[in-house]
Amino acid sequence: MAERVEVEAFLQQLLQPESFKDYGPNGLQVEGRREVRRLASGVTASLAFIDAAIAAGADTLLVHHGLFWRGQDGRLTGWLKARVARLLAHELNLFAYHLPLDAHAELGNNAQLGRRLGLVADARFGDQELGFMGSAAAALQSLEALAGAVGLQLGREAVIVPGDGRRLRRIAWCSGGAQGWFESAIAAGADAFLTGEISEPQAHLARETGVAFLACGHHATERYGAPAVAAALAARFGLEHRFIDIGNPA
Ligand SMILES: [Zn+2]
Repeated sequence: MAERVEVEAFLQQLLQPESFKDYGPNGLQVEGRREVRRLASGVTASLAFIDAAIAAGADTLLVHHGLFWRGQDGRLTGWLKARVARLLAHELNLFAYHLPLDAHAELGNNAQLGRRLGLVADARFGDQELGFMGSAAAALQSLEALAGAVGLQLGREAVIVPGDGRRLRRIAWCSGGAQGWFESAIAAGADAFLTGEISEPQAHLARETGVAFLACGHHATERYGAPAVAAALAARFGLEHRFIDIGNPA
């Protein structure tokens, strides 16, 4: 058992949210009960996730995508009311960390995604240094091998725009919707860039620069940070923890 304030202090210390400019508030987004015993981690605080966490007996939720984002007008109506009402009715704590959870050098989405693909970052690039880059092992230096690793580890086929067929010595990656960072990955010297989503311009950029682009799923690439942080939290305080994956085709 841990006090909620101890859990909060642990997470703030670990993830250092004050050092990021983010799209929404990081940390405790909804206050629930004072004592924490059972954690549920997930990618997004969707209603399905909240309900599954309740069914699992969790009292505290840790997610990457919380409830509140810049650009919302602040009204608790419709789907947002439903999510908040469910959290409050069950006195659940909701912790959400967005960019700090992408960035953490060992437990974050990028580090954990790299680990599954056999990639270790030795450089960072892009806005707030959120992009990771590293040298690929010889066995991973072809597009076929890299795509194979994605398929095997993430359980889904990447959408691929091939480059010019060069050896993929330097691979850059950033989880989620980081397709807009393709250019800065190219500028940083990447031979391939891996992220969650693709938009129209990236196909042309890949063809014209020769740098391969792989869209591996926003959800699929961001499935690893929250459970890694929650596991560290659970270990620190002797809590129960379960990762709940609510599938998402995006
Ligand atoms: Zn995301």
